[in-house]
Amino acid sequence: MKPHDRLYIDGAWRPAVGSDLIEVVNPADEQVIGHVPAASAEDVDSAVRAARRALPDWAATPPAERSARLAALRDVLVARQEEIAETVTAELGSPLKLSQAVHAAVPVAVVGSYAELAATHPFEEKVGNSTVHLEPIGVVGAITPWNYPLHQIVAKAAPALAAGCTIVLKPAEDTPLTAQLFAEAVHEAGVPAGVFNLVTGLGPVAGQALVEHPGVDLVSFTGSTAVGRRIGAVAGGALKKVALELGGKSANVILPSADLARAVNVGVANVMTNSGQTCSAWTRMLVHTDRYEEAVELAATAAAKYGDRIGPVVNARQRDRVRGYIEKGLAEGARLVAGGPEAPRERGYHVSPTVFADVTPEMTIAQEEIFGPVLTVLRYEDEEDALRIANGTVYGLAGAVWAGDEAEAVSFARRMDTGQVDINGGRFNPLAPFGGYKQSGVGRELGAHGLTEYLQTKSLQF
Ligand code: NAD
Repeated sequence: MKPHDRLYIDGAWRPAVGSDLIEVVNPADEQVIGHVPAASAEDVDSAVRAARRALPDWAATPPAERSARLAALRDVLVARQEEIAETVTAELGSPLKLSQAVHAAVPVAVVGSYAELAATHPFEEKVGNSTVHLEPIGVVGAITPWNYPLHQIVAKAAPALAAGCTIVLKPAEDTPLTAQLFAEAVHEAGVPAGVFNLVTGLGPVAGQALVEHPGVDLVSFTGSTAVGRRIGAVAGGALKKVALELGGKSANVILPSADLARAVNVGVANVMTNSGQTCSAWTRMLVHTDRYEEAVELAATAAAKYGDRIGPVVNARQRDRVRGYIEKGLAEGARLVAGGPEAPRERGYHVSPTVFADVTPEMTIAQEEIFGPVLTVLRYEDEEDALRIANGTVYGLAGAVWAGDEAEAVSFARRMDTGQVDINGGRFNPLAPFGGYKQSGVGRELGAHGLTEYLQTKSLQF
C-alpha cells in the first residue's frame, strides 16, 4: 500500500490546506514507512460540508441499494485482504498471521453483516395508530484508535452507511495507512462522492475540530476513557448525540468447578493477543485460593511460551507506559512470575509477556488499564468475593466466566457489571452488541444494536 499525500474528501483525493505531515513508523523495526497529511480545522470543515451535501441523497437511497454498496465493499475487502494484512502489520507491528486471521478477516464479516442488515432491518414499524420511521441521524464524525485499525473503522462506517448516514472519519495517528486503504475500498465499491470522507490528522487538532463542528450530528468515538470523557463533554455542550467505546479492565473468573488448564491457557492467549492491546482483554484472572498456585504456574508457563512472538506494542510511548506499569506492580509488592520490564529485543517497541501473581484488588495494576501484554492473577475466597473483585473497577467492558456447568457460569455472568461475557471460552459473534457498562462507554456497536445508534425515530399518527 502506497501512502497517499492527500485527504479523501467528496469522492476524490485532495491536498490538505496546510503542509503538516504525520510520520508513520513500523513499530517492529522503528523505520519510517511513510507520511500522511495532518489535517487542519479547515480541512475538517471541507470534509463535513461534503458529508452534509451528500446526506439528503444517501439518506433517501433505498436500503436495498445501500446494502448493495456494502456488499460491494465487503467484496473489495476480500479481494484486498492480503494487502490489508500487510499494511496493518507494517504500521501496527502485529504478526502477519494475526493480521490475516483477525485484522483483515473480522472487518469482512462485519461489513457483510451490515450488507445483510441494511436489506432486512425494519426501518419502519407500526405502533397502534402510529407509524414509526427509523431515519438516519445525519452526518457522523467518527474517531478511531489504532489497536484494531480496520475493525474500529468498519464498526462505525458499516452501520452508518447501512443507516443512510454520511461520515467523516479521523483515524488514529499511528495507523493512517489502513484508513487510506479503507477509503480506496469505499471508492472502489461505488459509494457516492461525499458519503464517506477521510481526514488523517492529530487528535487535539483534526479530532477536536470534528467533535466541535456544528455540521456533525453524531460523534462516534472509540479510544481511551480520558479522551472519551472530554469528547462527551464537548458533544453534550452542543447537545450532539454521542457514542463512546472506551477502556476496560475485564475479569476472567475461573470458578472452582472449571477446567483450570483450559481456562488459564485461553485466558493467557486472550491477554497476549495483539500484544495486550485489546480493550476487552481479560487482564485480571480471578482464581479460587485452593487452586491459586496451580493457576499461577500454568499462567507463567503459558506466557513464557509466547516469548517475543507476540510482536511489539504500537509506539515508544506505549512501550514506556507499559513498562512503567510493570515497575509499579513490582514496587507495590506483586510477585513477578513471567516477563518483566527489561526489553526483550534491542530494536522495536517490544515488551515481554508478563504475569504478576499475588496481585490484590486495590493495586494499580489491578485497577488501571495497561494496554500491553501484562496479566494479573488475583485470589478469591468464595463466589461473593470473586464477584466483588470482578465488579471492583470503574470499567465494565467485557469478561469471562469458566465453570464445570454452563448454568453456573451464566448465573455468575448475570451478576457482573459488564457489557459482554464469554462463557467457557465462547466465540466472537460479529452480531452481538459490543460496548461498556460504567466508564467503559455509552452505546453499543455491531449487529442490529449497533445499527440503531445511527438511527433516530419519527412517529406519524393516523
Ligand atoms: P486515544 O483516546 O488516545 O485516541 C483515540 C482517538 O482519539 C485517536 O484517533 C486520537 O487521535 C483521537 N483523539 C485524541 N485526542 C483527541 C481530542 N482531544 N479530540 C478528539 N479526538 C482526539 O486512544 P488510543 O491510545 O488510540 O487507543 C487506546 C484506547 O482505546 C484504550 O483505552 C482502549 O481501551 C480504548 N479502546 C476501546 C475500545 C472499545 O470498543 N471500548 C476499542 C479499542 C480501544
